[in-house]
Amino acid sequence: MSKNPYVKTELKYFLHTFKRWPLFITKAKGIYVWDKTGKKYIDFFSGLAVCGVGHVHPRVKAAIQKQADRLLHVSNYFYTQPLMDAAKELTGRYQGTKVFFSNSGAEANEAAVKFARLWAAKTNKKGREIITFSGSFHGRTLAMVAASDPKNRSNGVFAPYPTGFRHCRFNDLIDLRKAVNSKTIAIMLEPIQGEGGINIASRPFMKEIVAQCRKNNLLLIMDEVQSGIARTGTFFAFEQYGIKPDIVTLAKGLAGGLPLGATLATAKVAKHVVPGLHGSTFGGNPVSCAAALEVLKMLTAKNGVLIRQTGRILNEELSSFASYPSVKEIRCFGLMAAIELHGPGDAYVEAARRKGLIINCTRGNVLRFLPPYFISKRELVKCIQILKLVFEELN
Ligand SMILES: *Cc1c(COP(=O)(O)O)cnc(C)c1O
Repeated sequence: MSKNPYVKTELKYFLHTFKRWPLFITKAKGIYVWDKTGKKYIDFFSGLAVCGVGHVHPRVKAAIQKQADRLLHVSNYFYTQPLMDAAKELTGRYQGTKVFFSNSGAEANEAAVKFARLWAAKTNKKGREIITFSGSFHGRTLAMVAASDPKNRSNGVFAPYPTGFRHCRFNDLIDLRKAVNSKTIAIMLEPIQGEGGINIASRPFMKEIVAQCRKNNLLLIMDEVQSGIARTGTFFAFEQYGIKPDIVTLAKGLAGGLPLGATLATAKVAKHVVPGLHGSTFGGNPVSCAAALEVLKMLTAKNGVLIRQTGRILNEELSSFASYPSVKEIRCFGLMAAIELHGPGDAYVEAARRKGLIINCTRGNVLRFLPPYFISKRELVKCIQILKLVFEELN
């Protein structure tokens, strides 16, 4: 039995889906969180890429409070100001698109797949297959588990899964060429795979994807649930590849800590969407939209430059870890970074936590860093110093 009293309570009341850390968080502000004992930590993974602008950002908090004074929810039968403003501001980040709001990344991706299939039906496509990739993670609904890397299938206990997804090796141009066939309607990917361990789509791979889409009249669906909202220094990571996807999905960082998902589609897809085909009760909630509007206003091009600069510093600082024997590879794209280890990473995460730094481990051996956007150079260097102590201790 665990020594941690919260685990005992959890086992009594919860369906045990999460392996939580033995931390009871009572307060958060900016780059910091505090636990019940008053100990302060730097949150170097930003609440899993949700609190990119920092915890309880004063502008986000003020917008939420102001909106909470007016109304919390009225349903999608009505117009509300935050809903209209957030849609205008968000679609402004990708000219020519229209938006559907939901509550999460998985829902944003479900909508993307539905809209892609709708487009396929309306354009008399023969098949309904969507190509996805090894190492991908698109969410936890049945269809998104089917779309994601089959490693996410929990040994098939949740089968049967929806069909219509064909898996291909990430960053493998030859495998991609082989996978495209007469039934293919779309290619869906994360430009930088998050849960898969910060795997960066190579430029030739992305170029080949675009070429295949053009040649075979396929839709390009970009899952930017983790890489979007300026995490890589541009509002969408795809901008840095110079490409234009047909559908883009967002969630995590969109509303600065509140749940909000978004599916953006270009005119070619959007023109087929009519009332009754899709919907959501909570999607576009006025409070979430008010928060998102502030986040969007905060993420200017100037701040993008700043984020890219911070990303370069992070990349440089992390490169010095290559000399530790436990390190297999270091990967960095903007403020998405990882140190892949030869062995398990849990001890590193724990040691960092003891020293006041919150990081996470994905795929068992990949230490992942998703720092807050506006972390100062001094604070960033402090995080790296803590991480160095951890590596000294464990190597
Ligand atoms: C987290 C994540 C999702 C799922 O988002 P939820 O809000 O947990 O449903 C989908 N795609 C990517 C790339 C993600 O990182």
